[in-house]
Parts: sequence; structure tokens; C-alpha cells
Amino acid sequence: MSSQSSSSPPPQRVHKLADYESIVGAEVLEDLRTFADNISGKTVIHVNSTRAGGGVAEILFRLVPLMREIGLNAKWEIIKGDAQFFESTKAFHNSLQTGARLATKESFDHFIRKTEENLREMSLDGDTMFIHDPQPIGLIAKRKSNAKQLWIWRCHIDVSNPEREVWNFLAKYVNQYDAAVFSTPSFARSDLKIPQFMVSPSIDPLSDKNRSLPETFIDRVLSKYELDSEKPLITQISRFDYAKDPIGVIQAFKLVSDHIDCQLVLAGSLADDDPEGMEVYSKVVKAAEGRKDIHILLIPPFSDLEINALQRASTIILQKSIKEGFGLTVAESLWKAKPVIAGATGGIPLQVKNGLTGFLVHNIEGAAYRMRYLLRNPDIAARMGLNGREHVRQNFLITRHLGEYLLMILSLENHAKGERFSNRFEEKEEEEAAAAQTHTVIPQTHPK
Ligand code: UDP
Repeated sequence: MSSQSSSSPPPQRVHKLADYESIVGAEVLEDLRTFADNISGKTVIHVNSTRAGGGVAEILFRLVPLMREIGLNAKWEIIKGDAQFFESTKAFHNSLQTGARLATKESFDHFIRKTEENLREMSLDGDTMFIHDPQPIGLIAKRKSNAKQLWIWRCHIDVSNPEREVWNFLAKYVNQYDAAVFSTPSFARSDLKIPQFMVSPSIDPLSDKNRSLPETFIDRVLSKYELDSEKPLITQISRFDYAKDPIGVIQAFKLVSDHIDCQLVLAGSLADDDPEGMEVYSKVVKAAEGRKDIHILLIPPFSDLEINALQRASTIILQKSIKEGFGLTVAESLWKAKPVIAGATGGIPLQVKNGLTGFLVHNIEGAAYRMRYLLRNPDIAARMGLNGREHVRQNFLITRHLGEYLLMILSLENHAKGERFSNRFEEKEEEEAAAAQTHTVIPQTHPK
């Protein structure tokens, strides 16, 4: 599947920085403007492998326009790949996150071949390049040796216990970057030779995915999907991916619905760069066979308003991942004041504070136990939801994310300037030493 086949995001309203003031306060925006003044007009290019599906596309869809709004020349580019390329990168992804040996010699060779094609086709002449995740990592070969470009590898996945062969293969690329950025401190790597930054992803409170919605719209979405507005609703929104444990969600729900009358929605789409989606979807449909209270929804990409409505209509939100990068769906749900029951993996523990904004779980029985608890204690569920919204407001909104990127660019630029200055200084010292030597040498060798 070529990423070129992906549909493009629909036009969106570009918000002004001032639109965020009522949510984050004037001070945050003042800081952002100050950082932005120092780098306005610079070209920042983000590169990833899909415009549709998954958290990276979701973030860039909102962050790139906001970067433009504050005066950067921000662009978003996509690499091209065929089915074999995305099968190879999915094998890398699964190897990195699970430690299993899944990549073959052919997958490494094909990755290199497609990377070379992308290198020939893309110009990548920005001041700062953000290369997201492993798929486009080889674009670093495009770095101009004499240019003052910054190349940043932005890693969104869990590489804390990777399969060695895949990690060693990728680390050769990573070490050519100026810096690597990870979503949570537990992903940082002690074997990298470059600076590492910790920047959590974020959600945009003004996007269609997260803005408040009229009740009438939410009701329409519920009836479209034949959901009962009177019954508790448990929801997981995810790509159909084994790492999100959709089958585990169904099993946990079955343990709950034996005791409490409720309904489950598992909603997701297929991502262009994820070839496993259809296989997982078919298994999920089979696992839910014969159950009227389990709704498996295959929704088209860019169904942001509908996903927003499903999250808002939910009593509890699940994100029962076994492996996770950051888990943007968790922030989205907490922002809607919903308690979240989620796997204790990746960036989820940054968001789900156990017993405060939801519950961290380690298995199917744990998820079922916490669901029953929250369904029977709606007051506690409501309080957790409010805690969650505040936690997201303080930590996981797009304004904080933008500010950290700007600061990182500024600090790396200053560091590079410092190095150039110290190199010039060293060169000057060497020249002076050489000249001094010449002075001393010449008289000695000069015939008397
Ligand atoms: N998402 C979506 N449609 C879907 C499934 C997911 O728009 O059918 C969005 C979801 O709302 C979230 C992102 O895709 O914004 C998923 O990000 P997350 O970090 O949770 O997981 P990833 O897919 O990147 O592993």
C-alpha cells in the first residue's frame, strides 16, 4: 500500500495563538511568542510515513499549522513506500516494541532500497528537520555537510527493550542526528552518542477531535451506530493493532457484562503504514460474534467529530494496550473528563495516575475489576474524570508541546553556534601557534 494512496486531511480551521488564552492563560502564550520571535521565518520540515491514522499524523495535523501561525515556515512531508516497505517497517516496529526477532535480511535490504528512492525524490532543505519514527530515519543521508541544518530524530515508540539487530541497524542512523526526542524518560537510551530530549506529545483542545460538542450531535452519532444512550458505554478508540489488545478488551468486557448491563464500542480505522490492520480487524469481529452489546466500528480516517462524540458519550474509556508509544487517545479521553482504564505501558502512566485520573491495569481480570468498580461508583468516576481534565490541561496540550520544541531548537542552535565559535577560536589559536612557529623556525633556518 503506497502512502501516496492516503486521503488528505480535510481543510481545518487554523486557530490563532490568542484562541488558546482562555484555556492555558496569557503567560504561556507570552512565553511562546518570545521563543518564536527568536526563530521566526525559519523553515521547519516534519517528515513521517502517513497523513492518516495514528498519533503521529494526529499531532502533525495540528502542530504544523500552529507552527506557521507563530511565524515559522513549517511543512509536513510524507515518504513513499510500497507494501513490502511498510511490512518491513511494521516488523521493525514490532521488534523494537516486543524484543522479538521479526525482521529479515530482505526487509533490511528493501528498507535501504526504498530509503534511497526517497532520498533521490525529496529535497529536505529546511533549517530544522524533524524525522518521525523509524520509517524515514535514513533521510539523514540528505544532510548537507556544510549547512547549518538541525536534524532531529523524533521517536514516538517504545525502544527501551528492543530486539538488538533492528536497534543496531537503526542506531547507526540515529547517531548521525543532532538529537533524539523521546515521549517518556523510560524510552531514553544509554547507548546513543547524541543528546536526548524528553518531550511528551499533546492534544489540541480546539481541534474537531477535542472541542466541545452540542448534545444533539452526540445523540445523532449514538443513533447512527445503534448505541443506547441510556446504557453505560465503555469505549476503546484505536487502530486495529495487536499492541492495543482489542481481543483482551472484548474478554474483559464479557467479564463485566455478566454482572452489569452495559455496552462496548471498539472503534478504529486502518492506517496507511500498518499492513496488519485488516487481519486484526477480522479477528476482533470474530471475537465479538453473536454479541449485540459489542459494537465493532470500522470508521473512515478523519472521523474526528464522530470519535469526539463517542468519547464524550462514554462512561469509561479503555486503552488496554500491551505496548504503547504515548497513547494520545488517553489524553483525548481525560480531556473530556472521562476516567481511563489503561495498560501500564509506554507513556500511559504519565497520563493515568493510578486512582486519581483512572486505573492502570496489567491483565484482563484487572481491567474487568476496575470497570465494575467505576460503573458501580459513578461519583468516583466523575471525580477522576475532572482530575484527568486538569492533568491534561497542565501537561499535555499543544501549547506546551510547541514551546518545548521551540526551546529545543533554540538550545540546539545555540549549542551549534557555540561549537562553531569554539571551532573558529581553536582554528585561530592553531593559526597563531603555526605562525609563531613559523617565526621561530624561519630565523633559525635562515642562512646567516
Ligand atoms: N484515531 C483516529 N481514528 C481511529 C483510531 C485512532 O482518529 O480510528 C486517532 C486517535 O483519536 C488518536 C490517534 O489516532 O488521536 C492514535 O494515537 P495513539 O497515540 O493513541 O496511538 P497510535 O495509533 O499512534 O499507536
